[in-house]
Amino acid sequence: MSTIKETMQNFAMNQALKYVEGNPEENIPKLMSMVDKFTPKDWYAGQRDAIRGAIDAKNNWYQLILKVYDLDPGVRKAFFQNFLFNASLKGSATQDELSAREDCNIPWAILLDPTSACNMHCTGCWAAEYGHQLNLSLEDIDSIITQGKKLGTYMYIYTGGEPLVRKKDLIRICEMHPDCEFLSFTNGTLIDEDFCREMLRVKNFVPAISLEGFEEANDSRRGDGVYRKVHDAMALMKEHKLPFGISTCYTSRNVDDVSSEAYFDQLIDAGALFVWFFHYMPVGNDAAVELLPTPEQRLKMYEAIRGFRSTKPIFSMDFQNDAEYVGGCIAGGRRYLHINAKGDVEPCVFIHYSNVNIHDVTLLEALKSPLFMAYHRGQPFNDNMLKPCPMLENPEILPGMVKETGAVNTDYQSPETAEHLCEKTRPYAEKWSPAAEKVWEKGASEQ
Ligand code: SF4
Repeated sequence: MSTIKETMQNFAMNQALKYVEGNPEENIPKLMSMVDKFTPKDWYAGQRDAIRGAIDAKNNWYQLILKVYDLDPGVRKAFFQNFLFNASLKGSATQDELSAREDCNIPWAILLDPTSACNMHCTGCWAAEYGHQLNLSLEDIDSIITQGKKLGTYMYIYTGGEPLVRKKDLIRICEMHPDCEFLSFTNGTLIDEDFCREMLRVKNFVPAISLEGFEEANDSRRGDGVYRKVHDAMALMKEHKLPFGISTCYTSRNVDDVSSEAYFDQLIDAGALFVWFFHYMPVGNDAAVELLPTPEQRLKMYEAIRGFRSTKPIFSMDFQNDAEYVGGCIAGGRRYLHINAKGDVEPCVFIHYSNVNIHDVTLLEALKSPLFMAYHRGQPFNDNMLKPCPMLENPEILPGMVKETGAVNTDYQSPETAEHLCEKTRPYAEKWSPAAEKVWEKGASEQ
């Protein structure tokens, strides 16, 4: 994209945002009318329709937009600039261009583990599989981001381990890359008054706190007293007008709680702007296979999230059931990739196989490594978007890709073969398939 076009788009976006700031309730509808008048009919038509519909109906999405206008103005401005303009508008154009030129996937977001260390030990956490003493240095993280920006990637998401064990370095990275948006999965127990002030200062750091349900269920997986600590952290961030979200892993044990209206209401009352749901994955030799949800439980999540999406002022996403909105599996750099604390570049946070380490290759070389190219060629792995995964719903695919590409397991504590992993998901996939076919066909016939 030409620099002149970029500059003009950026200028227009900043003017529009400035206009809304004064009186969002009155000016958002006016701004949308202006946008409709001056932009060609087919530009972002779907998105514009959705925003206009929300404004007209004054529905839950409109309420969510107004909540964004309750945030600290500097943090909001950085979010719009980094997330909307740099990552999504300008970044996506660069990613598409490079993807076509280099004939490989170019990611929208990079997930990375600053550390494998964690102050807690939760049942079923993938982080527990890597061991507890690895770190990406400040220079490593800076280099990944510097390379990523050249590819059009402005969105960085920290996983772990507990990323906030390294909070000083993470704030330093925010200062070094003020044009990027940083989101961090966290257990929330290390968020305090000082850190809130630091987040307000740098403006481009958004926590996503892990919560597994109500107090009893949460603490049974995460430890006694964690639920209270998390609620204290959320109260602190709300008080400081900081944006934050929730990440919830659903399992056979907590589906009833986390699909309930009370759970959603609790998150909204606490001030969360988004909730991301993850399906439990039985990764690692010691995985608790019994935590895999049954087909009925997965459908319950599917229906609950879709229902609340049209009634509750919170942005909810279910990574296993929402593949239809992103064209299937997003791993292998198609939308994202994962770099663990040792530097191994993996297609996905749940897929612990790799051919390359970021200490030995460039980011672009990693995207062209054999396993990433196998993802690139194989995606989507299934036409049914309720069966997107080469490990969970298509367990015959991952072992083949790992074998063909010579990728090695990156769990150094207890290496697991792809065959062993997929033996655990095969019975799940067989049981889920009829339900997935039924729901998918129903959706197709309703369109
Ligand atoms: S590999 Fe599986 S879990 Fe990872 S993004 Fe793809 S579908 Fe999701």
